[in-house]
Amino acid sequence: NLERIEKKVRTTCPYCGVGCQIELLVQNGKIVRSNGVEGVLPNDGRLCVKGRFGYEFVHSPERLTTPLIRKNGKFVEASWDEALDLIAHKFNSIKAQYGPNSLAGYASAKCTNEDNYIFQKFIRTVFGTNNIDYCTRLCHASTVTAMLKSIGDGAASNSIEDFETTECLIVTGNNMIETHPITATYVKRGAAKGMKIIVIDPKWTPLVNYSTLWLQPRLGTDVALLNGMVREVIVNNWIDHDFIENRVEGGMQTFLELKSLVDKYTPEYTEKITGVPAEKIKEAARIYGTAKTAMVATGMGMSQQVTGTHNVFSLLNLILVTGKIGKERCGIDPPRGQNNVQGATDVGCHPAMYPGYIPVANEENRRYVAQVWGVPFENLSEKPGLTTVEIVQAANQGKIKGLYIMGENPMISDPNLNHTEQALKSLEFLVVQDIFLTETAQLAHVVLPAASWAEKNGTFVNSDRRVLRVRKAIDSPGEARDDWRIIHELAARMGKPMPNYSDEAEIFEELAKVTPIMAGISHSRLENHGIQWPCPSPDHPGTSTLYLDKFNTPSGKAKLFPVEHVDQSERATPEFPYILNSGRILYHYHTGTMSRKNKALTEFINHPYVIIHPNDAQKLGIKHGGIVKLTSKRGSLQTQVRIADEVLEGELFMPWHFSEAQVNRLTRDELDPYSRIAPFKLSAVRVEVV
Ligand code: SF4
Repeated sequence: NLERIEKKVRTTCPYCGVGCQIELLVQNGKIVRSNGVEGVLPNDGRLCVKGRFGYEFVHSPERLTTPLIRKNGKFVEASWDEALDLIAHKFNSIKAQYGPNSLAGYASAKCTNEDNYIFQKFIRTVFGTNNIDYCTRLCHASTVTAMLKSIGDGAASNSIEDFETTECLIVTGNNMIETHPITATYVKRGAAKGMKIIVIDPKWTPLVNYSTLWLQPRLGTDVALLNGMVREVIVNNWIDHDFIENRVEGGMQTFLELKSLVDKYTPEYTEKITGVPAEKIKEAARIYGTAKTAMVATGMGMSQQVTGTHNVFSLLNLILVTGKIGKERCGIDPPRGQNNVQGATDVGCHPAMYPGYIPVANEENRRYVAQVWGVPFENLSEKPGLTTVEIVQAANQGKIKGLYIMGENPMISDPNLNHTEQALKSLEFLVVQDIFLTETAQLAHVVLPAASWAEKNGTFVNSDRRVLRVRKAIDSPGEARDDWRIIHELAARMGKPMPNYSDEAEIFEELAKVTPIMAGISHSRLENHGIQWPCPSPDHPGTSTLYLDKFNTPSGKAKLFPVEHVDQSERATPEFPYILNSGRILYHYHTGTMSRKNKALTEFINHPYVIIHPNDAQKLGIKHGGIVKLTSKRGSLQTQVRIADEVLEGELFMPWHFSEAQVNRLTRDELDPYSRIAPFKLSAVRVEVV
């Protein structure tokens, strides 16, 4: 009964990186409805199924409501005093015995900027190490690495609404309709008005139905395909000479190096490697190369590979030689998977960078940050820390002894889970702070109950760099507390108190002082609408398109990085003849911790499955709905079968949301050498009928 609504609270959706503005309707202290907010970007009233119906998890009876301490192998309820004193004692002892670099922290893409800012400050000033990272390492690390080197920034160059008005859009390795549904509504509107859409994906996605062209390369052949397209635009003179001369480092000289490298990637040669017909490669290059404006949306399909950084370099080469960046409605946009994956890195949850992407290794930077934080300069480590998978590897080697995890669930999300499980079990002390007893929390020594997004104030940053308000709608259950308040209290108990912040707005004020891209933003400026960084001063309106004047590289120019296709290190063999791909689906979200606690979402689907091509199913004698065992060199699982020609013969696809069949038992922790990302998209497996 909507007449009994006590209040309506405007906030930001807790799921994907679109950052939809929602209004939560509260009755008797409970959320009873979620509506889209009209008239504000990025969603103008629209919501997908998760934003509309995915709020029930906050009222789940499974929410953590009190601290838990493991005693004799079992969790027992504890007071906050007991839990925090124990943690402070254990972390201080580990630091004293093994040094600060034996400690590490995982921040969270689901927590606010204010939570994450305080968390990274805690790791750096209380632990005394830069061993801080989080799930961005597992999604867009390679995209960001390539973009930073080539154009100087890892964030989206355009605004979400530009997806409607650009003339041409390449969507590569990005199942946009399922993973960023509201961004996809702009694309669908654009398609209706004649926008040309080129989908590059080894797996069918619903966007194919709206596309002009679908290129279906074999898994792991992106560099070859893009080199083939670069060659085509060069051969047909669809390049932008002025742009290359004036905005690319080395001008025509470096262009000629790229030209010489791609020369062998004729359409026929490229077809041989990728399986994409030569005519389609030519057509894709023509559509993109001749468009006046064109954008690229690149996703996990490109980034989660051992060649992830090279994949994105080859994409950037195509963009740069055609001059399709640095202008309105032209650029590269990697939609962020989680609600605050952009913000958590922006505010410094990075092993090599302070808030605002300022390198820790630079003494001047450390002096400035130390002064704002009011800590001795010598206390800030100059040594870049370990990344997520490296933290797990170091734990397995006995080098990391204590780990503090805030709102992350590596026991589902990490590659090669058997290795992760062994590492977490080998720790002297593991603290997990979360809203549920996740698969990771179950391995902890102490579990701390945190407030959910609906119980917090703060900000998120969405996929188009828009800083958006998060507002408290309801009280937390039991004794659950705000993440930043827990960290703040722990710092004091470890003998290194932080300033007494009165609220999240005050934390943001400090954050803005050390984060130049957000220097002009404050909570009060965000009251009615978000602001896109960079926003250097309080009178600056924010920036909708990047690089209009210059790139953010030291020279102000972009850089080409010619790269060769190399065969994947893991490939089909007689023992493991299929290549497994993994990804997300519309109704669930990442490790399922939130989405699987919603009746409205689980009613659509709530079980794992693998997609097999009809010809392979026939060869193997598998029926639709039957059970198969998948085995890789790392592990095995059992799951139900879906037979569909969405995948190529010899390739499989599994969603990774379901803990009953953990895809990451099968994946590798071999890393991209530049970004340290793991190859979730390509694991050789065998299939056996159960
Ligand atoms: Fe939430 Fe993303 Fe759906 Fe928008 S598109 S409602 S942000 S899950």
